[in-house]
This record gives sequence, C-alpha cells and structure tokens, in this order.
Amino acid sequence: MLKGIGKVLFTEEAIQNRVKELAAEITEDYQGKEIIVVGILTGAFIFMADLIREIKLPLTVDFIDVASYGSSTYSSGVVRIVKDLEKSIENAHVLVVEDIVDTGLTLNYISQNLLSRHPASLKICAFLDKPSRRQAPIKVDYLGYKIPDEFAVGYGLDFAEKYRSLPYIAVLAPEEYIKR
Ligand code: 5GP
Repeated sequence: MLKGIGKVLFTEEAIQNRVKELAAEITEDYQGKEIIVVGILTGAFIFMADLIREIKLPLTVDFIDVASYGSSTYSSGVVRIVKDLEKSIENAHVLVVEDIVDTGLTLNYISQNLLSRHPASLKICAFLDKPSRRQAPIKVDYLGYKIPDEFAVGYGLDFAEKYRSLPYIAVLAPEEYIKR
C-alpha cells in the first residue's frame, strides 16, 4: 500500500464497472442527440477520460477550471473562473462531469453560470457524492457512489496535488489527516 493511503473505498475493478454502467445510462438517455461533455479541472480528468470512451454517442469535450476564494480547506462558494470553456454551449446538450460533490457550492456556481449561456439542456454527472456535507441544492443526474464524510484520494482526486494517478479510491491515512 502506498505511504499515506488508508482504507480502499473502491477498487479499480469496481470503478471501471460503475463507469460502464453510468455511460450506458447516459447513452440511452441521450439517444439521437449530440452532447458536449464539460469537465471541471483538475479532478475530473481521469473519470471523464474513462467515461467518454464508454459513451456511445457523438460528443465533443471542453473544460472549465474554477478557483475558490478563501481558505483552501473550506469551500466558500465564491468562485471565479480561471479557465473558461473554449466553445459556445448555446443550444447544446451539456453534460458536466465532476469528481466529487461536497458542499455543492462549486457546482452550484458553475451550473448557474453555464445555464446563463442558454444550453438546450444541462445535466450533471459526478463520480462521488458526500450528501451529508451539502450546503447548496445540487441535483446530480448521474452518480457513481455516495460516500460518508471522509477525505477521498485517487482516481483524479488529490491531496496537495498527490495521489491523482491511483487507479483506485482510498481515504487518506490518519497521519496525513493530522497534517491537513
Ligand atoms: P464543493 O464546492 O462541492 O464543496 O467542492 C467540491 C470540490 O472539493 C471537489 O471538486 C474537490 O476538488 C474538493 N473535494 C471535496 N471533497 C473532497 C475529497 O474527499 N477529496 C478530495 N481530494 N477533494 C475533495
């Protein structure tokens, strides 16, 4: 086991199976349509790469990156766009892909912002959700797994930019938590 890593929450195999199920649902729901998949950087890039390769629809990808004002450990909900989409989403079917929904404040901001650009539709796909921490009313249309209030790393999720490349999802070891 890698140093700093605690209990494994989802193995690589479980993740890959769940991603295939989500992609099948998305493929079915959007039959006959073309979609723009918008990834929220940086955490979503690995999930998004796996997901889009399983979605059997014509699609294009784009990315958005936001930064939170305030402390790095607490989401203030006040965010600014540091990298905007490259293309217009007007009249397009947009699927936003996020790694994890925590307070929901980031996705709430991004959804409002994207809706103001008049897409034909906007849905959210998140791999993990911590519903007990929710502060903003976010509807996740496609969800991988709900998790309790623990700090998850791996499969795109970082701790101080480390652990993103792990193919599984684990919690941080207690000694890393203390440093947090
Ligand atoms: P929210 O605005 O929903 O509170 O913030 C969501 C963002 O916080 C995620 O995109 C992610 O960057 C970060 N985050 C929330 N919970 C976790 C977690 O358990 N592990 C990691 N690595 N990041 C998290």
